[in-house]
Amino acid sequence: MVIGVTLLGATGSIGVSTLDVLARHRDRFRAVALTANRDAPRLAEQCRQHRPEVAVMVDPDAAQRLRELLSDMPERPEILTGVEGLEQVAAMPATDYVMAAIVGAAGLRPTLAAARAGKRVLLANKESLVVAGALLMQAVSDHGAELLPIDSEHNAIFQCLPPSFRDGLPAVGVERILLTASGGPLRDWPLERFGSVTPEQACAHPTWAMGRKISVDSATMMNKGLEVIEACWLFGTDTDHIEVVIHPQSVIHSLVQYQDGSVLAQLGNPDMRTPITHAMAWPDRLDSGVAPLDLFEVARLDFEKPDLARFPCLSLAFQVARQGGTAPAVLNAANEIAVAAFLERRIDLPGIATIVGETLSALPSEGVAGRGLEFLLETDRRARECAQALVAERSL
Ligand code: NAD
Ligand code: MG
Repeated sequence: MVIGVTLLGATGSIGVSTLDVLARHRDRFRAVALTANRDAPRLAEQCRQHRPEVAVMVDPDAAQRLRELLSDMPERPEILTGVEGLEQVAAMPATDYVMAAIVGAAGLRPTLAAARAGKRVLLANKESLVVAGALLMQAVSDHGAELLPIDSEHNAIFQCLPPSFRDGLPAVGVERILLTASGGPLRDWPLERFGSVTPEQACAHPTWAMGRKISVDSATMMNKGLEVIEACWLFGTDTDHIEVVIHPQSVIHSLVQYQDGSVLAQLGNPDMRTPITHAMAWPDRLDSGVAPLDLFEVARLDFEKPDLARFPCLSLAFQVARQGGTAPAVLNAANEIAVAAFLERRIDLPGIATIVGETLSALPSEGVAGRGLEFLLETDRRARECAQALVAERSL
């Protein structure tokens, strides 16, 4: 049987890597639906190459442009638009696996729709777990969906755990998770120069090529903070059992420490096609196109403790992970606004942590037990509004 795949965020960095993996294994996988926000030329090209049944352009004007670009294509895909279009292709019967690779909280609705439709969800969109972890995990269990992590660290941890880890980490002898971080492009920068970092410098990641938002998150280490929260949900644990370890070579993708003293790690070249292929093939293994790891070329592996004074976003994320409730959703929304403002050169890099911290103070955490999606989306909207006003006050 050929497995049908819906690819949410096809035109992005994860989307392109996923299509590369898919093209290597056309006997096993086919693209049923491809989606993007507004890059019609790129999506048109991908449609010609991968021939999905449906294409979604969230932006209606871009959807019109896509229709024009594909007008001469034989057996052209049906073209849908809006968030409703995303939810529809995430749940469509022809789809078995949904790659959730939209950036930001915008990925939440379709990711949740995929879980509610009982699909295998390949989760790159960590923000959806940060915003709505309880809701998403509940939907996965209520509807018999599978949730496989694509984020390289979480995929590594998944590979180092026994299949019964869902009974609880203590039950399988796990003492703690060691979450590795490259430290990003600013790891060795003098702190006094953080105020003058440009978007180009922040996006010049030493070991990974990624979208702009996650690249800035790596520079501030908010990315690692979001990943701590993501790990708590995926592995049913808390911040007391997660340690962040700076490992500049990005060869060890994370480790699991057991009570008998064993520490298991997953290693590989930093290329997202490895976790993508792992999650698509699981429990089998397939060729990903990634070059084999050459340990002699790597030569050494270094480890450091993170310096929280340099990376206040990481402290804020640990703080909200402990707090729970709406705090992680507020942190995420404020961060999305602040990162966009930094990329538009309206605020400086240290301004991101300031805006996130001030938004968290302005909107104290509320409990989420028994609250649904609409409540979380409303929280997200209020946090964005608050952060937007703070950006306006600070704009350079
Ligand atoms: P990207 O910016 O390269 O691509 C984002 C994709 O999402 C694009 O296809 C875009 O069209 C779509 N999109 C953007 N805004 C949207 C909206 N409002 N509605 C619908 N679609 C929208 O991002 P990326 O680097 O591929 O990252 C995608 C996700 O994967 C993020 O959550 C990121 O944290 C996670 N992730 C990425 C990497 C990586 O190596 N790039 C690694 C781990 C996790
Ligand atoms: Mg990661």
